[in-house]
Amino acid sequence: MTAQRHTRGTYVFAGNFDNELISCMEQPVRRVDTIFDAIGELATCSAADLIEAVVIEESIIIPNPVANIDAIRRVDPTAVIVVASDNKTHIQADANVPRNTTAARLCSAVINVKSQPTELSFDGDMDLDSVLGLSDAAKIVRDSASLGDVDLVRTLMHAPIQFKETLVDLLKQQTGWTFCAIVDDRSCAPKTSIVAPLRYGHEEHGVLAAIGATKEDLSRWARWAVCWLDLARRQQKLKILAYQDDLSGAWNRRFLRTCLAKELQIAQKERRHLTVMIFDIDDFKHYNDKWGHDAGDEIIRELVKLLRTIIRKGDHVCRIGGDEFAVVFCDPEPPREAGSNHPTTIEILAKRFREQVRKARFPKLGTEATGVLSISGGLATFPWDGMDVDSILVKADQRLLQSKRQGKNSITIGNEE
Ligand code: GH3
Ligand code: MG
Repeated sequence: MTAQRHTRGTYVFAGNFDNELISCMEQPVRRVDTIFDAIGELATCSAADLIEAVVIEESIIIPNPVANIDAIRRVDPTAVIVVASDNKTHIQADANVPRNTTAARLCSAVINVKSQPTELSFDGDMDLDSVLGLSDAAKIVRDSASLGDVDLVRTLMHAPIQFKETLVDLLKQQTGWTFCAIVDDRSCAPKTSIVAPLRYGHEEHGVLAAIGATKEDLSRWARWAVCWLDLARRQQKLKILAYQDDLSGAWNRRFLRTCLAKELQIAQKERRHLTVMIFDIDDFKHYNDKWGHDAGDEIIRELVKLLRTIIRKGDHVCRIGGDEFAVVFCDPEPPREAGSNHPTTIEILAKRFREQVRKARFPKLGTEATGVLSISGGLATFPWDGMDVDSILVKADQRLLQSKRQGKNSITIGNEE
């Protein structure tokens, strides 16, 4: 979200700043001498007069810059912290500016901080918890007459997809506002509503819109709500990190096992088949030796990208070892041809992928090495090749080894044995 930001809050200047800089600021300004005064301003500011940024002259946080910046952050995590210094960059601050900065430059530093997009790189807008079977809404016992923090914690743990909804329900109950919603920006809120930004440090969570609220009350609740929203987002990010391979962005082995266990349950219940392909790059050691580890890493990333262009929306790509990958084909397939024991569409996808890898040009490898990469793989399908995670993976692995033994650059599928 990079839409316009609210930039009219107060700026607290802590330290010895040029009068000219202060007089050029369009925003309301408060000047203080010490870091304690700055913290006091944050702790006592009213909801109607929020502090947008704390601009600190470096000399007043020396010799404990980390502890001082942390103290400000603890009092108000939503204020942008800017350090003005000529020599050093303080990584704990949200932004650094030179001591002789201009008002325009300072404001643009604050706006940039708030405009940083949220980084969430995983399969589109997939609900990771439901893919992995981690959500269990049945565990949420909601006393809907009087929602409280405990309901938020339970929703976060067992049905994070419903978190925003529960938060809004709780707000409605606690406040008695006639309307309340969390929306992306002002333009999505009803015209008759008033809005407050939902901002936590660098993170933007949209705006809180309400009808029947005072501005002061709305700001106060927005500050409370954004802490919860940020907690939910962090929780989600950690979960993604736990299931993602950071070199390629593909899912990891943990994801494969968890996702496969859940997909097998569904396949069993719905009486349909489920296929997994495991493949491994041929002679990858040789690539690394000849072209270097960085070029090898690039191949791994390129391979995952290529694979994603071939599979279908509900399928999942996992990197399960150095040069070993797995694809879980989750999308239900069209009915099989009469007499065929194995799915045909997936075989076609797998073979097409192998051919495309063979044809691909990997720029980092230079001209000498183009067109020489190949993969070997094996397919295993529930229920014919196994009934549980281990037996399916073992079977796919055996077929992968068979492909290697038969001269590589091939995919072994069940009915070819
Ligand atoms: P084979 O055809 O039998 O698969 O031979 P191979 O050379 O590919 O050997 P194998 O699959 O047993 O070994 C995998 C190699 O992949 C070992 C290592 O050099 C390389 N490798 C493993 N992880 C990484 C990684 O993260 N980055 C890079 N660049 N190389 C890796
Ligand atoms: Mg290999």
